[in-house]
Order: sequence, then structure tokens, then C-alpha cells
Amino acid sequence: MDDGMKRELAQFLCAAKIQEPRTKSQHNREQWRQSLLRRLDPLWDIREKIDKYVAENGARCLICGSSSIEGNAVEIDCGQALQNISCLDCHSSWTDVYVLSNADEIDVPSDVASG
Ligand SMILES: [Zn+2]
Repeated sequence: MDDGMKRELAQFLCAAKIQEPRTKSQHNREQWRQSLLRRLDPLWDIREKIDKYVAENGARCLICGSSSIEGNAVEIDCGQALQNISCLDCHSSWTDVYVLSNADEIDVPSDVASG
């Protein structure tokens, strides 16, 4: 976790009103901070993995990087499409989320167009 992320974390804790323990000991406060950062690290990691996966158009497993991934049927609902994906190598699974972005090849019957 770099300094920018630590600053973001500090702002998040402040916004979420998560308070550091009331203790006069600088050492205890530092320990508390370190344990919190350790607990949050996996969350930062998975966010980075998801961003990379999306940037590569979901071509490879977001956990192990294998290209042996397969998707189940796509379910479409309310401008959103969901597809369960699983990795044949590490057996991780997740759901791809697609969002409606455009309408194309529009064909309007002439009686509707002139009326
Ligand atoms: Zn995998």
C-alpha cells in the first residue's frame, strides 16, 4: 500500500467515523493502525485485480491469470447483463457485469415514421 492509498484510507476512516482507540500510548495506536491496514490489504488487492481484468476485457482469470476460463449463460435484466465465469485452472468464480451502452441498427416502420 503506497502513501496515496494510506492517505485515502485515513480519509475513509474519518468519513466512516472509525475512531482510533483512546490510548495515550503512541505504540498502541500504531499497532492498531498496522493491524487495520493488514486487514484491508486483501481488499485493495482484489480491487486492483478487478480493474486489470476489466481493462483486458475479461480475457483471463482475474485471480490466477489463466486464459482457461468459461462463462455460463448470460442473464439480461433492466439494462444490465450478468454472466457467471469460472476458471478451469484455479477454480475461482465470479460474475461479469455488463451495462447497456447503446442502441444500434434502428428500424422504424414507415407508417410510424411519417405519423
Ligand atoms: Zn484462475
